[in-house]
Amino acid sequence: MTARIREFLRTRREDGPCMVLDLDVVRDNYNAFARALPDTRVFYAVKANPSPEVLHLLATLGSCFDTASVAEIEMALAAGATADRISFGNTIKKERDVARAYALGIRLFAVDCLAEVEKIARAAPGSKVFCRILCDGAGAEWPLSRKFGCVPEMAADVLEHAHRNGLEAYGVSFHVGSQQRNTEAWDQALASSAAIFRECAERGITLSMVNLGGGFPTKYLKEVPAVERYGDSIFQALSKHFGNRLPETIIEPGRGMVGNAGLIEAEVVLISKKSEDDDVRWVYLDIGKFGGLAETMDESIRYPIRTRHDGDEMTPCVLAGPTCDSADVMYEKEPYPLPVSLSIGDKVLIEGAGAYTTTYSAVAFNGFPPLRSYVI
Ligand SMILES: *Cc1c(COP(=O)(O)O)cnc(C)c1O
Repeated sequence: MTARIREFLRTRREDGPCMVLDLDVVRDNYNAFARALPDTRVFYAVKANPSPEVLHLLATLGSCFDTASVAEIEMALAAGATADRISFGNTIKKERDVARAYALGIRLFAVDCLAEVEKIARAAPGSKVFCRILCDGAGAEWPLSRKFGCVPEMAADVLEHAHRNGLEAYGVSFHVGSQQRNTEAWDQALASSAAIFRECAERGITLSMVNLGGGFPTKYLKEVPAVERYGDSIFQALSKHFGNRLPETIIEPGRGMVGNAGLIEAEVVLISKKSEDDDVRWVYLDIGKFGGLAETMDESIRYPIRTRHDGDEMTPCVLAGPTCDSADVMYEKEPYPLPVSLSIGDKVLIEGAGAYTTTYSAVAFNGFPPLRSYVI
């Protein structure tokens, strides 16, 4: 917790959980990315935290933006980014939305199949496209499914189709899986990318860009490598596969840009046991899966939780949210150790909560308002 957040919470009076995010930490993270990957352009993944203050700060620092919808494009524009600094990186877009993005000046689009190429060719003629390839996501704590990307063997066909339809076949993209703790995870995808560059060259198409995606971690309970280590490892993999003809590169950090900048203050609503001799306590907070902690799904992301009793004896707890949905349980398979002295009414601090929290919270499920967000 930063001193600024501590001071903010000390004077906060209203009831209910909230997320507080310190912009100074976002600035430090942006600068760390820029230093670790000096020849790479940063496209912040807006979905991680689209607060206007975050977008405005990043626009001022020189960041570009990766967006997934027309609304996100509009948010990036409103924050001061020009259209040439925004990509429409979702591979699943309505043709009408491609046309709207084009009208707003967007000229960079993601594709992963022939049908999507045809939509872009019709609705955003002459634009640049990059083809997303599948990546197995091994080593990631929040791995991505097979939803986005095609097999690398198909990418040259997709890019050639773009070229033949008057688009600029610009490059290749992939995402190694979110919260990727293995700094070597980019190697395999870069080997595939280099092969696609060669295949396209044989077909007379010169690709120029590799989009290295996101995946840079936030520290939750386990230690994570520093961003410099990712930079070194990515640079080595690029050199290994592309030799001295390095492509232009971009990264799309989301979690790694804002995760550690925010924390959630919540309150213990109830502590109970299911039977007299139960050795696991149930701790119910006023926030749960529907209030912003969606990434506890499958117990994937384990947030550090601080209380004023830290240092006391610990006891295993099932941690659950306040709603009447029985799925609203965060940690049960692997109970969470919390102090025995923790009591009803105590505040708890959930750290590393700056990414993928506020926008995942439901509007009013069970009457609970969406997670309040303060950017300071
Ligand atoms: C969500 C997303 C990102 C951000 O991923 P992180 O793991 O949060 O860094 C980057 N690129 C694309 C295309 C995404 O959908």
